[in-house]
Amino acid sequence: MPYTYDDQNVFAKILRGEIPNDTVLETEHTLAFRDITPQAPVHVLVIPKGSYVTYDHFCAEASAEEIVDFARACSKICSDQGIAADASPGFRALTNAGEHAVQEVPHFHMHILGGRPLGRILSPT
Ligand code: AMP
Repeated sequence: MPYTYDDQNVFAKILRGEIPNDTVLETEHTLAFRDITPQAPVHVLVIPKGSYVTYDHFCAEASAEEIVDFARACSKICSDQGIAADASPGFRALTNAGEHAVQEVPHFHMHILGGRPLGRILSPT
């Protein structure tokens, strides 16, 4: 299926300033804010400012500058939030893409979770 970006999704509205968010980091190409329904003491969503639907879309079509900016932002968030793997028991970074992963918001986002034991990522089916 082709990537079709819906500019009415909730993260597009956050990027346009139409709805509020709890920002933890903003860079030239990336915005990070707290998840509205946190699943752990630290639950941050990291999004590119560009219009990418999924992780694979972002990796295929974003510029090198956008990709590096995004990756460095993720690292800085882990440090700033006290969950970096060299200084704490660690964190989980995950992204859902499409129907099988139950992606709710069709703007690429990385969940960064930490601050408690998180269990295994998947249960056997
Ligand atoms: P996903 O299922 O991976 O698409 O996750 C979407 C995430 O976005 C969920 O964890 C929601 O709690 C979160 N979310 C939805 N709306 C907002 C919002 N306005 N501000 C912050 N997080 C949101």
